[in-house]
Amino acid sequence: MLATGGTIAGAQRARSAHGYRSGVFSIESLIAAAPGVETLARLDAVHVARIGSQDMSESVWRSLARRAEAALGRPDVAGVVITHGTDTMEETAYFLNLVLPSEKPVVLVGAMRPATAMSADGPMNLYNAVATAAHPGAGGRGVLVVANDEIHFAREVAKTNTTQVGTFKSTNRGLAGLVSSARIHFYGSPVRRHTAGSGFRLAGNRALPRVDIVYAHAGMGRDLIDASVRAGARGLVLAGVGNGNLGAGAIAAAAAAARAGIAVVRSSRTGGGVVERNIEMDDDRLGFIASDELNPQKARILLMLGLSQTSDPAGLQEMFYAY
Ligand code: GLU
Repeated sequence: MLATGGTIAGAQRARSAHGYRSGVFSIESLIAAAPGVETLARLDAVHVARIGSQDMSESVWRSLARRAEAALGRPDVAGVVITHGTDTMEETAYFLNLVLPSEKPVVLVGAMRPATAMSADGPMNLYNAVATAAHPGAGGRGVLVVANDEIHFAREVAKTNTTQVGTFKSTNRGLAGLVSSARIHFYGSPVRRHTAGSGFRLAGNRALPRVDIVYAHAGMGRDLIDASVRAGARGLVLAGVGNGNLGAGAIAAAAAAARAGIAVVRSSRTGGGVVERNIEMDDDRLGFIASDELNPQKARILLMLGLSQTSDPAGLQEMFYAY
C-alpha cells in the first residue's frame, strides 16, 4: 500500500463538522479502521506523500510510479493499493495506467467523507480496494479505481460530484466491475493500450512538457490561449463547449498556436461523449487534434507523455485513438 493522504485520511474537529484537514491519519490507522482487511492480504504500507490531492504533482506521480514499479517487480507482491484524495484521483490513475509496465493489479482508493465522519466511506472502500488488488482476475485490466462498491477503469473514471459518496462515474464505457464486501464481479476489459502494453516509460527526471488547459465559455476571447503560449506551453488542451467547440476569437488564437508548433487538443467540458474531428471545425486545415473520449484533465496527461515522443499532430492524433 502506498499512501498519499486525501480525505480518506482526513480529520474533522467534530464528527458533524463540515471542515476537515486531509491526510492527517497514518496509513496504519486506516488499515486498523478496516477490521478483517488483514485476512484478505498481507499488507506492507508506506507513505509516499501526505497531501490533499489538489496538491498532487508530477514529482509525486514520479515517486508513486517508482515505488509501485519496484513493489510490483517483487515476486511476493500480488498488487498495489494507493490511497489518494478523490479530487485528482482520475489523473493519477490515468498517468500510472500509461507509465507502469506491469500486468499486476494497481488499485487507487479514496473516500468522500473524512475518517472521523459519521458513516465514513473510507474503511469499506479500503477493504474493497485490497480485495480487488488481491484478486487474481484483477491483473491485466490496467489501473483501477475502487469506491462506493464500484470498480472503474483509470481511463473511464471521473469525479462528477463535489460531496456525494457516489461521485465517481464511468460515463462513456461503463464500469470495470462491482465489489461488495470483498466479493468481486468483473464486467469487462479495458479498450485501449495501458500498463505493460502502453509503450510509455518515464525516462530520467526531466520534467514532462508543459501542457495547459483552457476552459471555453460563451463570449470566450483569445486572451487566455495567447497567455498560455507566452508562458511557454508546448501543448494546449481546450475544454471546449459541446463537441470541443470554441468561439471565433479563440479558434484564431488556437490556430496561431498550432501554426507555431504547439499541439492543440480539442476536448469537451460536457463530461461525456466523443470529440470527433472535422465536425464544426476543420481540424485538418487548422492543425488541431481531437481528444476522442478523454476529458480535458486526462487529455493533458496523454499530451504531456505524447509530446515527449513527438510533436507531429498526426502522430499525436493517433495516440488519442490508441490510449
Ligand atoms: N481535496 C481532497 C482531496 O482530493 C478532497 C477529496 C477527497 O479526498 O475526497 O484530497
